Amino acid sequence: MRGTRALIHLDNLSHNIREIKRFIADRTALCIAVKANAYGHGAVECAKVAVECGVSFLAVATVEEGLELRNAGITAKILLLSLCHPTEVETAVLHDITPLVFDTEYIARFAEAARSAGKIHYSVHLAVDTGMGRIGCLPHEAAQLARAISDSGVLVQGGTCTHFAVSDSIQPNDRSYTDAQFARFTEAIGAIEDAGLSPGLRHCCNSAATLDRPEFHLDMVRPGIIAYGSYADEISKEYLSRKGTPIDLKPVMTLCSTVSATRMFESGKSVGYGRTWTAPATTEIAVLPVGYGDGWLRRFSESDVSVAIDGKPYPLRGRICMDQCMVDLGKASGVRRWDTAVLFGDRTHGALQTADDLARKTGTISYEITSCITSRVPRVYLRQDVRQHRSFEAPFHSGISGLQQPDRKSLSPR
Ligand SMILES: *Cc1c(COP(=O)(O)O)cnc(C)c1O
Repeated sequence: MRGTRALIHLDNLSHNIREIKRFIADRTALCIAVKANAYGHGAVECAKVAVECGVSFLAVATVEEGLELRNAGITAKILLLSLCHPTEVETAVLHDITPLVFDTEYIARFAEAARSAGKIHYSVHLAVDTGMGRIGCLPHEAAQLARAISDSGVLVQGGTCTHFAVSDSIQPNDRSYTDAQFARFTEAIGAIEDAGLSPGLRHCCNSAATLDRPEFHLDMVRPGIIAYGSYADEISKEYLSRKGTPIDLKPVMTLCSTVSATRMFESGKSVGYGRTWTAPATTEIAVLPVGYGDGWLRRFSESDVSVAIDGKPYPLRGRICMDQCMVDLGKASGVRRWDTAVLFGDRTHGALQTADDLARKTGTISYEITSCITSRVPRVYLRQDVRQHRSFEAPFHSGISGLQQPDRKSLSPR
């Protein structure tokens, strides 16, 4: 296996899901978003853990993502959060993937596909746009569309949902915006009920609202990012502690690489494309076999980003290339070839920054950092099982598994 890999701490995932469950009432169902390859963490493995933890739904963004889960033998309910292409409707129906619908064309297509597949009660959820400005019907159209679902004869309204635009902000005007969205959602649900129809499961909370707005949980919540151990922007660890509703989230992904070369650079020698950095004095430079082709984004080069080697931070130098990047070891670091470098992740596994920290430094969000880790990076799934830890740890020289570090002397080159 190559020296760059993403360790996926499945125990942290189940820990986070247990933590989320503390925030919701027993009667509230839990849907975990596993779209975009579980935010980069590996959809099938993460979905299996979520199912073991007793979630009611898994949420995907594409029919193919749903199929991947079905092909892996996952029989849990799957909610499709984005609209699919008309050519995918039949596949969605054949694999019992529950779509969001919000117009008569889409309702008719799903009804037709369900009828041809011989289904008699095919569940769809009605999406209402209460202010996200993406998909969904307008609140005043909800009752009439609920009627169209019911009149189709084959579809049932398994749920009604909306999505918040600024629930991850604690600014008063943003909080009022979320309140107004919820009020419009409640009205739409009221209109459906007044028409003598059932809205099914009512759900609106993403991660931020799940943690910050317990009064909006209704019948189901749909968190994603917090399951993977990141906080949702301003709904931070500190904010939640101050509020008296603390949550302990643990990063699920640790991205690590291996020092593949170290060399002394004389003063004046430049590093990499564009010659953006030149050694001001004699400096030792390490090469890591990880670059933007792995999702270690090129624009991280412009920020003050360091990586951890044996618990100490070393700054990136020069531009991140497609397959490699360079790190400043200073003068006498003691870092050796084949040492492990931890780019971000869980502190107990040697990281000095979480995906949240890295996101803050580089002007993005943790969602983008983990979901951009490409398929070229092997995911190594870890559970509490010690033997598993050992077998994966063998090629590494520093303690990334949280186990006893091997004696460095015993690892000197033969
Ligand atoms: C992605 C998504 C979620 C989960 O969002 P997080 O911020 O990761 O919790 C919930 N609902 C919808 C509609 C989504 O697209």
